[in-house]
Amino acid sequence: MAAGATPTVTATTGMIADIARRLTGGEVTALMGPGMDPHGYRPTRSDILALSRADIILWHGLNLEAQFADVMADLSRQRTVVALAESVPQADLLADPAYADRPDPHVWFDPRLWSVVVDRAATVLAEAGVATEAPAQALRDEIAALDTYARQVLGSVPEPARILVTAHDAFAYFGRAYGWQVEGIQGISTESEAGLARITELVDLLVGRQVPAVFVESSVSDRAIRALIEGAAARGHTVAVGGELFSDAMGPDGTYEGTYIGMMDHNVTTIARALGGTAPERGMSGRLNAGT
Ligand code: ZN
Repeated sequence: MAAGATPTVTATTGMIADIARRLTGGEVTALMGPGMDPHGYRPTRSDILALSRADIILWHGLNLEAQFADVMADLSRQRTVVALAESVPQADLLADPAYADRPDPHVWFDPRLWSVVVDRAATVLAEAGVATEAPAQALRDEIAALDTYARQVLGSVPEPARILVTAHDAFAYFGRAYGWQVEGIQGISTESEAGLARITELVDLLVGRQVPAVFVESSVSDRAIRALIEGAAARGHTVAVGGELFSDAMGPDGTYEGTYIGMMDHNVTTIARALGGTAPERGMSGRLNAGT
């Protein structure tokens, strides 16, 4: 790499690529696009080529991109390979309820933890000669504003309705950050099948607590969510689809929802509005659903 040149950065998930784009101001390749599920995604031949050509490889870690462990171990012998989310202090991590020794990787759902990840990326890129101080501060400020907005609109939802039911267990950090009950049909990883017992348990919850809406996820099949809705309907309780959330992947490339701030704005705005809270239709800065 020539002195002063911007390093070539390749990232795994869209959320990690978003940080690198913001901090370098340049193009960053994300291997996983909109709608892709990082838990099950296997690196392709062209992914490995892109990784082997990068100056810096940024991935999430914490066992999120489970199929990348060997590839990253190999690449780290010749390249800078950093699992950014592993910078979150151990004490702030939640455990995977199914495997006590594994962390829940979905830390981006707590903006304050995501700010820690931004700091780590800023340090790594600064070591490679990128001037990250100003863009990192700008991004941290936006993340703080997002957190304030989320607290406000989620806090407008009547307390008994603060239950988030989704396809898989991606939202535990969200629940802890904002004081919500969160329930996924599938576990932390989407690799496991949802059991009938779990569906029945959640139908009981929906009917018992009169939960008005559940949510589909852009990167997970909605089949199990449909089973919940049908189960509740069979017991005389109508549940709506409150909207599609961006859980493990961002929205379309080139749109506001295709950024970390935009995906989170979309999620909290959609959740608040579907469950009886007050939130502006176009979100925290009037940019939702603009298509650009
Ligand atoms: Zn997930």
